[in-house]
Amino acid sequence: MAQKDTFTWHNTELTPEERAAAKGQRPAVIWLTGLSASGKSTLANALEHTLHEHGHHTFLLDGDNVRHGLNKDLDLSPEGRRENIRRVGEVAKLFAEAGLIVVTAFISPYRSDRRMVRSLLAPGQFQEVHVDAPLEVCEARDPKGLYARARAGEIKGFTGIDAPYEVPEHPELVIDTSRNDVEACIKILIEHLKEKGILLR
Ligand code: ADP
Repeated sequence: MAQKDTFTWHNTELTPEERAAAKGQRPAVIWLTGLSASGKSTLANALEHTLHEHGHHTFLLDGDNVRHGLNKDLDLSPEGRRENIRRVGEVAKLFAEAGLIVVTAFISPYRSDRRMVRSLLAPGQFQEVHVDAPLEVCEARDPKGLYARARAGEIKGFTGIDAPYEVPEHPELVIDTSRNDVEACIKILIEHLKEKGILLR
């Protein structure tokens, strides 16, 4: 039988809900914000693995990786940071339109930049998560030695040292990584995503 007889053309668009139901999830952007070494990358990776194990469809956007490619032309000035976040927001939006749960790990120190990304997305899709740990804890962790270099004056405009971090005023979630280990943090995140109806199974 000819192929045109086998397939029927449906003149309706696949809705975002249909796409989401097939994946057991609603698209969302889980925006992890916080100081360097607060635990954003660690949690973003662990969250993506956990979601993947449960058959969810995800994508991870990480500050360090994006700055090596898409945003390698940008510096750490306020303008560079704003453009970094704007581009990441647009990319996250595209992945969300494809039905994915996007997990992002960016310091994103400015409230206005985070608000701008929120405004790109449908209501409820942007989940701002403050990955919170005291500066002293982050500085003691210093996994990449960046705080030491910033204190030595080798890096200028380092968030928390000589550049501001604007604490989220109304984040959807705050996770204190100095009081919860990684496993506990992931449990909190997963519970939150279920509560918000982002994980449907
Ligand atoms: P960021 O991406 O925010 O710069 P990283 O994830 O690269 O931070 O580094 C955080 C460091 O803190 C890692 O060495 C990690 O092992 C450690 N850490 C300790 N406890 C936690 C926790 N509960 N959540 C995340 N990271 C933690």
